[in-house]
Amino acid sequence: MKIAFIGLGNMGGPMALNLHKAGHTVSAFDLSAEACKKFGAEGLPIAKSAAETVAGAEVVISMLPASAHVEGLFLGGAGKPGLLDSIQAGTLVIDSSTIAAATSRKVAEAAAAKGVAMIDAPVSGGTGGAIAGTLTFMVGGETKDLERARPVLEKMGANIFHAGAAGAGQTAKICNNMLLGILMIGTSEALALGVANGLDPKVLSEIMRRSSGGNWALEKYNPVPGVMEAAPASKNYAGGFGTDLMLKDLGLAQENATAVRAATPLGGLARSLYAAHSLAGHGALDFSSVLKLVQKAD
Ligand code: NAD
Repeated sequence: MKIAFIGLGNMGGPMALNLHKAGHTVSAFDLSAEACKKFGAEGLPIAKSAAETVAGAEVVISMLPASAHVEGLFLGGAGKPGLLDSIQAGTLVIDSSTIAAATSRKVAEAAAAKGVAMIDAPVSGGTGGAIAGTLTFMVGGETKDLERARPVLEKMGANIFHAGAAGAGQTAKICNNMLLGILMIGTSEALALGVANGLDPKVLSEIMRRSSGGNWALEKYNPVPGVMEAAPASKNYAGGFGTDLMLKDLGLAQENATAVRAATPLGGLARSLYAAHSLAGHGALDFSSVLKLVQKAD
């Protein structure tokens, strides 16, 4: 299949590489020359522009930071044309970015008006899941469009869920990430308390992982440097899932909670804590660096 892939960041780069390695004809692009160089060196075919990637593509995949990027790419603005003008009718667009459900629906409606089908398919599983091809996809859109996307999604993920109509994938994703943001702070707090009492973080992590406090952070993404070799914490919190991206998702959850009058007190507190952490200069670090907020100074 001929696939256009736009957005070669921590997630998009490895996802596009998996499609390339699976034998699809991938044409990829990122605004960052550095990202293009990095994944081009790994064998990914790089195009000169987003418009060039979509020429003749049957499927277009986007993996961008936030709502404004997705809206800007597909719909254009400020005198710039949107990519939808270059995408042929009959093409399937899969947006895997985590963005506002309302933006997903807006772009999907504009696509439908041009005869282009679109699904929202945000992911969970982190950069490890993107590299291993074991992501979880949460899809919003029509069943027939999900079935068209399935063979492509299966090359990047291990679990594919149909959450509901357009935008429903995004809603599922922000519920998940609100929980993730909260549990990472809770896990950091518990580990910092143990370490302040002289416990070895590796031993305490293993005890809690196998006890009633067990969770995804303790399984795969320990926030304490040196406990898990592959976790961002052991790489000076580089790569992974940026604090500012987590802050964006917690903001989306709060906006949504206000709109539907849901009570999300811990989600609100978590947003404030990540905001303080970002303001302290840690926005570009992996979100597990939120440990620094509760860690005892050396
Ligand atoms: P990232 O910041 O590493 O990468 C985003 C890339 O998009 C950048 O390389 C940027 O240059 C590029 N970009 C922005 N606008 C563009 C445009 N108009 N055209 C082409 N390229 C453009 O982000 P990421 O960590 O890869 O995350 C991408 C999305 O996936 C975000 O919505 C994030 O919330 C979500 N997500 C991330 C993780 C994770 O662990 N990193 C996990 C699940 C979901």
